[in-house]
Amino acid sequence: MTFPVIGVVGGGQLARMMAPAATALGFELRVLAEGEDVSAVSAVPTSPVGDYRDLDALLEFSQGLDVMTFDHEHVPTEHLRVLQAAGVNVQPGPDALVNAQDKLVMRAAIDRLELPNPTWASVEDVEALVAFGEQTGWPVVLKMPRGGYDGKGVRIVDSPEEARQTTEWFEAMAPLLAEAKVDFSRELSALVARTPDGESRAWPVVHTIQVDGVCDEVIAPAQDIPLEVAAAAEDAAVRIANELGVTGVMAVEMFETPGVGAGFLINELAMRPHNTGHWTQDGSVTSQFEQHLRAVLNLPLGATDVLGPIVVMKNFLGGDNQELFSAYPMAMASEPAAKIHCYGKEVRPGRKIGHVNLVGASAADVDSVRQRATTVANIIRDGRAPARPGPGNSEEHS
Ligand code: ADP
Repeated sequence: MTFPVIGVVGGGQLARMMAPAATALGFELRVLAEGEDVSAVSAVPTSPVGDYRDLDALLEFSQGLDVMTFDHEHVPTEHLRVLQAAGVNVQPGPDALVNAQDKLVMRAAIDRLELPNPTWASVEDVEALVAFGEQTGWPVVLKMPRGGYDGKGVRIVDSPEEARQTTEWFEAMAPLLAEAKVDFSRELSALVARTPDGESRAWPVVHTIQVDGVCDEVIAPAQDIPLEVAAAAEDAAVRIANELGVTGVMAVEMFETPGVGAGFLINELAMRPHNTGHWTQDGSVTSQFEQHLRAVLNLPLGATDVLGPIVVMKNFLGGDNQELFSAYPMAMASEPAAKIHCYGKEVRPGRKIGHVNLVGASAADVDSVRQRATTVANIIRDGRAPARPGPGNSEEHS
């Protein structure tokens, strides 16, 4: 018996965090890296450098793999089809993945499944955008269907005058996706995994907090969510996975809309482990990274039970502190229960460089668990203790 070889296209932190799961199970992980210095390279011994847009590089990388999977969704759909035709076991396959690559395709799929979408339209030009805004009411949200991440490729358009200033966007890509601006109470994420044979498992729906379009914090499970909304959101994620033939981990990002329709609307799909699932590393029986490997290998999925009443994940972005390790003694001493995950990336302002997971003893403590996780993350980001509130000092926890 030999152990399987898994190839991951893309060497970011998601690929990096698959490595401990692969090691534990005895699998060989290989990564097609964008460069010698990307996050996964120091964690994965076989990390050839190659361009994921280059079919030859992908074909070469596919040699000897049992399965090819992804750290991001940017591999061209047509390359994936060629790989499949060449006999490569691509998971998720192109027909599923295109729903995470192209927001217009995704919106149409969600409509087809009769799941709750915001009002949307495919708009070819400024006139069509103005017409959409006049119909649904301003403001509207304009999105590049392909290539966006962390809020890049998303803009709010407040008025017909502002719509007329979006010509550049239509020149860059057309058609674009226009959506009604949803009045949501919070953002949610429903995470599932599915195998090629059709086994699926979901984690409980979580509350995600975005700052400037970037995931900043996750509270698992989402607190005070009506049971029927949580169940419907989980069911929607499982149904999407089944009906679109998704394999591996998928995150369904949602807007909570209390009292309106099903109580949520679907925002977007990600078909890979996702920032909103990092809490599972320390807060669930099976982490999303292990589950992804099991799923793409068509192995039985692991249990998704939560390991405590409340789990908080807090991201840290690049800040003042260039020497992250120098802050570890203080960070670790401040919260011995915190689990620190560092992506091995060069510190640049605003760049995601790590996160902290903390399991709390009681859901009633959610505020204190959030505060404690934030303190650890801020110590690492800033390289110093958080400022204490006091006379003349108003910059408490930034
Ligand atoms: P990305 O692909 O860059 O993550 P998203 O489509 O998730 O882009 O949008 C980024 C953020 O913009 C969302 O997390 C949400 O806060 C806000 N947003 C996106 N679409 C809408 C919408 N239709 N209504 C209100 N806010 C939205």
